[in-house]
Order: sequence, then structure tokens, then C-alpha cells
Amino acid sequence: MNYKILALTFGLAGYTMATPIKTIPWNGHVGAVSFTFDDALENQVQNLKPVLDKLPDVHVTFFLTSMGDGFRKSADGFAALANAGHEMGNHTESHGHLTSISDNSELEKEIIQFAEKIEKTLADNGAKIRVISFATPFCEDNDNVKGFIAKHHFINRDCGWHGRNEWDTEPDWLSLKAKIWTRSGASVDEMLSSLDTAAFIGNFEGANPWDVQVKGGSWLVVLNHGVTDDKGDDYAIDPADIEKQFKHAIENKLWVAPFGTVGAYYRAHFIVDAAKETATDDGFTVEWEIPSEYMPASVPLRVNIDTQSVGENAIVEQGGKTIKRESDGSYVIEFTEKSLKVRKPKPGENPDSATSLPGSATRPLANFPSNTKYTLFDLNGNDLGNVNGFEVPAKFPKGTYIIRAEANGQAPLIKKVHR
Ligand SMILES: [Zn+2]
Repeated sequence: MNYKILALTFGLAGYTMATPIKTIPWNGHVGAVSFTFDDALENQVQNLKPVLDKLPDVHVTFFLTSMGDGFRKSADGFAALANAGHEMGNHTESHGHLTSISDNSELEKEIIQFAEKIEKTLADNGAKIRVISFATPFCEDNDNVKGFIAKHHFINRDCGWHGRNEWDTEPDWLSLKAKIWTRSGASVDEMLSSLDTAAFIGNFEGANPWDVQVKGGSWLVVLNHGVTDDKGDDYAIDPADIEKQFKHAIENKLWVAPFGTVGAYYRAHFIVDAAKETATDDGFTVEWEIPSEYMPASVPLRVNIDTQSVGENAIVEQGGKTIKRESDGSYVIEFTEKSLKVRKPKPGENPDSATSLPGSATRPLANFPSNTKYTLFDLNGNDLGNVNGFEVPAKFPKGTYIIRAEANGQAPLIKKVHR
């Protein structure tokens, strides 16, 4: 049964079953791309890091393993990449064939204990992170393996096919597909053209009906391994060629973000868009559940909210704070708040000049007046108290933190900072 249509029908009839939130696809971009790099190879730190350091709008995912010893040898390099905003995911301790392992304690060690080991190794090297994404070695997966993955991750990447995910089709969160790069398997032009398809650039009308139909922007997941000029390494890509892809993705105005970041936005949308409203005295509330405790600590969502039933200038609130209405009528809400409230405005109250809520970096503060309040958070979202600017006091351990700056009348600015 299509509950959405049912809910809409009932909503029109005046019952409290409407689904008033509609997430704007791909964070307001035409599409998205996540570049992932497997196997913790030393040449990723040596050859890819300098490329990434030049491109502040590009953030990628590394799926780490102890296989080959690159992670241990380059732990400080991966920690530096983590502190620069790149995601560190789990690719198992020894990169074995998970579906051949019948001993569950072995799966526990390969999957869950290794996630903790990644966190500890990076913390020892100055990067405080939380592992939330997984990628199966050899893309070998079954229900038992997925059960272990789900105990410490909210999403898993497998391989294969065109690697595109459509906005309105819910995938298997424990088996996302990815387009695989090998020198013998794909040309650089083919990869660039995949980035066009994800951005819905081109004429797709002539496609055969048995082809995969392209109807709009999508999320492309790319699987890479090494980064080197060594043409003998079939799995590796030249540094210049991956840079070309990053730049093309930006030109195409794609959202270029880590696998776990785009995945969380994508997964959250299926939940809030299906969440039903409950009538209150002066409006309605909408509540939803978080599907995994391993979602990121903050998942800002750009949404449209049908506030018609409440009337003009309805106020949207989360956690007791009013969310500013953007100039296009949308709102940036925080998924991890698990609810929002829409109510009639009080006299003089205006949704366009409200301050915003924690977690939503909508419009940066134009300047920082002396009454700006700075709050320090760890990456799990724990409030560590107030600080004096975008500086983490020396008493805190080395690592990555979030500082939220708030001043009256302006949306807060959220910054990732490192100590
Ligand atoms: Zn691998």
C-alpha cells in the first residue's frame, strides 16, 4: 500500500495523517558524488592528499584496513586527512572473504572491533572521529555479515553497476552499489561522463527502454583504490586524472561529499518525508525516529514544509528554537532532533528574521559581534561548554571539534575546528 498517497488523501480530508515535510534533493544540488578510496594504501596519502589539500570543496571517504600495513605506516597521514574533513570508514581488519567466515566471533573482530581500532589509531594520531560507514572487501555480503555491519555502521558500500542512486528509490542501506575504476575497465572520459549523468547533463531521451533510464540528478558513488602514475597498477588512477574528476564534479555543481554524509542526508529524507503530522492547539508537530545510532551526530536537511494549514508566517521550531525561513521559502532542519513543531506566530514574530537552530549552517554570520556565543561540541554532538571564539582551549584533547557561533538575529555559523 502506498502510505504516502493514503496520508495525503486523509490529510486533505482533515485527518491528522498528512506528511508535511519534503526534503530538497541532494542538499540543494542537482546531484551528488562520493569518491571512495579503499585499502588504506600509502600512495593515497602520498599522492592524493596533495590534490585534496588544493580543493577545499572536495571531501572523500577512505575505507581503511590493516591489510598491507599502509594504515599503520601512514596513520598520521590518514589522521591529517580526517582532520581536513575526509571520512574514515571501515574495510575490515584483514580484508578477507567475510561470507566464508562461519565463526561469528571472527566477524565481530573483523568488523566491529576493527571499527574501534580505526577510531583508537586515529585518536592516537590526533584525529577524534567516529566510524559510521563500511565497505565490504570484494563486495561479498550476506544477511549474517550485514547484521554485524549494522551493529557499528549505518551504511555499507558494495560494488558494481553504474553506481547511481535515485532520490526517490530507497536502496538497501547495507548494500549500496558503486562504479568501479580500473585502468582496464573504464576510461577517464567514461568517468567524466558518469559525472555528467549524475548531474543530469546530456540528452537521455534516446535511451533504449531496456537501458537504465535517467530521469534527473542522482548520487554517484565511485570506488577507487590506489593513486599513482604507475601504469602497472591496474586498480590505481593517476593523480592528474582523479584531480580532473574532482574538478569536473565541481563544475557540474554536484554535491561532492563523503559517502556517510550524502548517505545520511539521503537516508534521512525517506524518514522525514514519510513522517506524519499531529495536530496541536496552534498548529502541528511532526516526529520521526533515527534508524541507526551510527548516523552522523548532525544531519542538517534542507526541506520545504507545508505550513498552509497553520496560516501565513507560520513559525517552525526545533528544540525550542525558531528556524529561519530561507529566502526561497525552505528551512534547514536538524534530523537528529527527531521532531519539529509548526505554530501560529505571536504578534510581531516573523519567520524570516528568526535565528536558526543548532547544527544548521544555513547562512553564515556576516560578522561576529561582541555578544556572539561560541559553543564547543565533540563529533558525537556532546555540548562541551562555551568557548571564546573558533579556538579549542588547550585543556581539550587533540582532535576535531565543532564550534557553533550564534549572535542575535542571525543564523549560526558552524565550523569544524582542529586542535
Ligand atoms: Zn578492498
